[in-house]
Amino acid sequence: MSLKKIYFTPGPSQTYFTMDSHLKKALDDQVPSISHRGAAFQKIFQEAVENLKGLMGIPSGYQVFFTSSATEIWERSIQNCVERESFHLVNGAFSARFAKIASNLGRKATLAQVPEGQCVDINGLLVPESCELIAITQNETSTGAAQPLADVAVIREAFQDQLIALDVVSSLPYIDLDFHQVDMAYCSVQKCFGLPAGLGIWIVNERCMEKARALLNKGQSIGSYHCLPELADKAAKHQTPETPNVLGIYLLAKVAGDMLAKGVTQIRRETDYKAAVIYNLLQKHPKLSPFVDQEKYRSKTTIVARVDYGEARDFIDPLEQKGLVVGTGYGSFKREHIRIANFPTHSKEQTEMLVDLLEDL
Ligand SMILES: *Cc1c(COP(=O)(O)O)cnc(C)c1O
Repeated sequence: MSLKKIYFTPGPSQTYFTMDSHLKKALDDQVPSISHRGAAFQKIFQEAVENLKGLMGIPSGYQVFFTSSATEIWERSIQNCVERESFHLVNGAFSARFAKIASNLGRKATLAQVPEGQCVDINGLLVPESCELIAITQNETSTGAAQPLADVAVIREAFQDQLIALDVVSSLPYIDLDFHQVDMAYCSVQKCFGLPAGLGIWIVNERCMEKARALLNKGQSIGSYHCLPELADKAAKHQTPETPNVLGIYLLAKVAGDMLAKGVTQIRRETDYKAAVIYNLLQKHPKLSPFVDQEKYRSKTTIVARVDYGEARDFIDPLEQKGLVVGTGYGSFKREHIRIANFPTHSKEQTEMLVDLLEDL
């Protein structure tokens, strides 16, 4: 048998360390065969939602829905919450993709765009009144730039009429989000949760629900099976409109439960510690440096290093020979960056091992 690898890739990534045992139990209990309309599934759905609410402190007035991915949530949020115009803070591939989807759906997407590796300076940010939704990518996984939560609070204060959609795909549950600062937040499970891909988590408040109903009443299409009213109707019965990723929801319920038992404060503390270890190395390494110049914008969960001498392969290949898999740069940065995930499943010991190996390259 070959050596088991440790994936430090920013998604899919190393699975959460308890996932294997939950998967075995799921197969023993024949979870993939149960009906999505039966009581056993309703219990799983409810457990997943309750554990997520507990873990992330999701307040009352916010509902949790499941989709196939975060990409789907981009499309659904435009369909359900934007009649004509959305506003996007863009600083990399993921934030740009959301804006593109709004255009694809025939909406006008207005951008506040900065070069990759930076975050939009929110001081003096102007959002046209005609924009109905402000899209913020809290953690831009392609560059390792993270918009501080304090910025989100300032945007909330300044633009009360707009809906705020926060992409926390590669930062939940690490970031300590006050959900009242946003109208929706969303993620998919193959990043920080360490689960197999193919499940999105969409957290929305009543303002989003109202907007969807208003668009529907105006005769606008808000999509079909995954529009907000349909999702809410079924969620009230602990169900989903379609036959969902039952196994994925089961694993999410269990892993969120494990994280809850461990304590989110402990997870956040460990994440901060490991991030400090990695950035410390990047700052003193002769051939690598943090891609994000400004310290206040550096992500703690997806860390991007610029390769100043040589190319990404000079680091990725020798690490892989030792069983540690780090990510390439994203898109055009493929050869110039390496990306290192710092997710809850990555232990201090594994992170220190990675840093020790990088130190010698
Ligand atoms: C991965 C990622 C997405 C897309 O997630 P999918 O599960 O592939 O749809 C969106 N936004 C950010 C910031 C991401 O890192």
